Amino acid sequence: MADGLRLDTLEIRLGGRVMVALDAHVAPGEVLTVMGPSGSGKSTLLAAITGALDPAFALSGRILLDGEDVTALPTERRRIGILFQDELLFPHLSVGGNLAFGLPPSLRGRAARRARIERALQEIGLEGFARRDPATLSGGQKARVALMRTLLAEPRALLLDEPFSRLDAARRGQVRELVFARAKAQRLPVLLVTHDREDAAASGGAVIELDA
Ligand code: ADP
Ligand code: MG
Repeated sequence: MADGLRLDTLEIRLGGRVMVALDAHVAPGEVLTVMGPSGSGKSTLLAAITGALDPAFALSGRILLDGEDVTALPTERRRIGILFQDELLFPHLSVGGNLAFGLPPSLRGRAARRARIERALQEIGLEGFARRDPATLSGGQKARVALMRTLLAEPRALLLDEPFSRLDAARRGQVRELVFARAKAQRLPVLLVTHDREDAAASGGAVIELDA
């Protein structure tokens, strides 16, 4: 059932104080933006959704993906993709090696995997970049590779933790459009957290504000 991402009366507490309280639904292909200043709990919210919440926090409520309650599942079984502010490409792997890391194990055979990587590079305008060292890429190119690595893993939802904020103004709009377009094409529910009004406006979806 393609219901998307549902946060059912989610509450995150720290030392008895409620830091984030959220009730939300993100349909497939839609973007929900959660806005809040630095320290308001945005990254913590995404950690709760991916199953990587620090034990210092207490979580209540439920996280549903396409109708499945994933609240108690370990991170790797949730199949949720996340992009961070820092691109976090593996520096010891080539661009192609980074993309290979995202490929699902179900895609078998060296030739098939290599072909999928070439196609992925074409899709992001980086044809022939498979053997490049990530260190030789521009910020915008790294961001595109990181996006593709995340999408190749066939996630059921995409979380964005201020992934555009380190890019310069010119690249920023382009990368943002690419991320939203690809997510829409794959019918992914997208949850964007940011402190930036421009990102929120560009997402074209609903915006929820967290208190400081
Ligand atoms: P944001 O992403 O909105 O900037 P964070 O989610 O990173 O905010 O942090 C929210 C608050 O939780 C901050 O006050 C931060 O210091 C605190 N915090 C983050 N991680 C931990 C942790 N592991 N233990 C205790 N407090 C934490
Ligand atoms: Mg943060």
